[in-house]
Amino acid sequence: EIRVLEIGQKIANQTQERVKRVTKEAILREQMSAIKKELGEEGEEGDDANEIALLKKQVKSAKMPEEVTKKIEKELKRLSKMPAMSPEVSYIRTYIDTILELPWSVKTEAKVNVAEAEKLLDEDHYGLPKAKERILEFLAVQKLAGKLKGPILCFAGPPGVGKTSIGKSIAKALGRKFVKVSLGGIRDEAEIRGHRRTYVGALPGRIIQGIKQSGSNNPVFMLDEIDKIGTDFRGDPSAALLEALDPEQNNNFSDHYLEVPFDLSDVMFIATANMLDTIPSALRDRLEVIEFPGYTELEKFQISKKYLIPKQVENHGLKDTHITLTDAALDQIITYYTREAGVRNLEREVASVIRKVARKVAEEKGNQFTIDASDIADYLGPEKYTPHLTGKENEVGMSTGLFWTEAGGGILVIEVSVVPGKGQLTLTGHLGDVMKESCMAAISYVRSRATSLGLDEKFNQKVDIHVHVPSGAVPKDGPSAGAAITTALVSALTRIPTKKDVAMTGEVTLRGRVTEIGGLKEKVIGAHRAGIKEVIVPKDNKKDIVEIPEEVKRDLTFHYVEHMDQVLPIILAGKIATKPQKLGIRKNVEKPAKDEDFKVAIG
Ligand code: ADP
Repeated sequence: EIRVLEIGQKIANQTQERVKRVTKEAILREQMSAIKKELGEEGEEGDDANEIALLKKQVKSAKMPEEVTKKIEKELKRLSKMPAMSPEVSYIRTYIDTILELPWSVKTEAKVNVAEAEKLLDEDHYGLPKAKERILEFLAVQKLAGKLKGPILCFAGPPGVGKTSIGKSIAKALGRKFVKVSLGGIRDEAEIRGHRRTYVGALPGRIIQGIKQSGSNNPVFMLDEIDKIGTDFRGDPSAALLEALDPEQNNNFSDHYLEVPFDLSDVMFIATANMLDTIPSALRDRLEVIEFPGYTELEKFQISKKYLIPKQVENHGLKDTHITLTDAALDQIITYYTREAGVRNLEREVASVIRKVARKVAEEKGNQFTIDASDIADYLGPEKYTPHLTGKENEVGMSTGLFWTEAGGGILVIEVSVVPGKGQLTLTGHLGDVMKESCMAAISYVRSRATSLGLDEKFNQKVDIHVHVPSGAVPKDGPSAGAAITTALVSALTRIPTKKDVAMTGEVTLRGRVTEIGGLKEKVIGAHRAGIKEVIVPKDNKKDIVEIPEEVKRDLTFHYVEHMDQVLPIILAGKIATKPQKLGIRKNVEKPAKDEDFKVAIG
């Protein structure tokens, strides 16, 4: 009973205290507003009211569309009625601030002067004739047609080839602001279109944020990595993007957060992508693709000499007189310290040489430095890459294929080893399904040709075949290594070596037909970079040869083939036997395969 009484008393005390406190606050507040009134702030009800009046003024001067003005006025009314302590106040304030900060009627004066644009593009970028021409045509049409109702430009190419920097030059030439928004990895529709205001921490989408950041409603808006947007249960960002990009409906783009439409029709959108295959097809349709192929060594040389070195010298606070990088030194950096389609790493390596010189200059160790090829190792450490083919021999069971990824093209070695066994096929090197199937198709083709290749018809039951593609940790896929896999297999079975400086690409059908592949330009440029001398290409790809730079074509011999039967005589460094050999494996004419060879392979 005593306990019950005690608790009752405690509660009564607490309640009384709270009531006291609240009453005290109310009285004080009343007194404060009475004092303010006395001080002559009549008609206003304190700071909040002041702020609301200020916001109202801003709304008037922001020159927003009528619909937006109405919406904001409504929100302001709600705000003024809300007690200052309410948590909603801060949400509404943020919302109103966001809307007021948007450049509803701020425009930079867009001028289109094609000749000047051409000058600017040439000033900032070496080469890229096709891309520049296409951009200038686009600008010319815009100048004549007035409004931007054309397709959206999409710059496609490996990283570091100047896509972003050309975009900046376009903005400069047009006198527009430039914003870049990266779309890589976006899976949520709300990233593009914003979250509804009911969510805690809601924000406008990236398009509206970009516009806000640019401070004008007609910027050049770069949508970076449009090929990397994904789709999942949170909606499809590409659908929202379509709405933003479509010139027919983007004059009232609706962002979930804003709740009022924003006019995007004056924005010049430019998308960039590394690969086109992964762009959703509806989006791909709207894009006018301008390709940026990788650079050749010669182009890299010119770019660094004319643009990268002067830029870095200036960035490091040096003068031209402080540093001379000889041509041989530059060649050394390009060949032995970088392997890429673009010039990003090259720029980094050049910057690192210049930085070291800058330090010496700052420490007053000298005022003039000449850097020759022999000094590069002191500045950049040991060579990072050796050209792929130096010191390699013609080998049995190997072939050179070509690959291309978003980072450019290159060569890919395929190794096949054959050991006595029971017909087991082992595939290693992180191969994708399509590539595995190519291996099986290669075996079927070789079986169908067993007699003419001088192999036992049942060779496949007597040997185990292991196909391996080095750089085992890197996933690889695609059908275009078909020809190279088949060649390596034939070479391993017949023990005839393949020529080391011939590379090939092409999908192979079961019957041995070699069919068209994609990315020929990147692949061939990559092969050239790796020191390949001859390339075997599907005849169907002959049309793509025009796109390959002249200096690459000059150094390479092209063989156009339709069938594996044409490939083998080009690539094999030896004659094919006519009679089937023991064990299903033909002994090499020049250097017979001994049993020890097999032991080594098994070991
Ligand atoms: P991307 O957007 O294609 O990944 P960037 O535009 O960022 O590549 O280019 C990387 C760097 O290379 C920039 O500093 C750029 O100025 C330079 N660069 C690329 N291509 C050229 C070129 N053709 N002429 C001059 N500089 C170039």
